Amino acid sequence: MKVNCPSCKTSVEWNETSPFRPFCSKKCQLIDLGEWADEQKAIPCGPSKDAEMSQLPDIEEIEAMLSEQGDDFFKQ
Ligand SMILES: [Zn+2]
Repeated sequence: MKVNCPSCKTSVEWNETSPFRPFCSKKCQLIDLGEWADEQKAIPCGPSKDAEMSQLPDIEEIEAMLSEQGDDFFKQ
């Protein structure tokens, strides 16, 4: 029995010689597992979501800076 690799459509033997079946290789298995991430990247609002996520540490940094500098600021 043969199946087509979902990632690259290569014909894959459905037996123990194909440990990654229905994928032809681990690479294709990982590609398929990563597809949901690619799909999210393809969504127009994806980059802004990524930007929000990348901003989160910055906001925390700013808040930390404000709380650190706050004491000095009020002393002056
Ligand atoms: Zn493949």
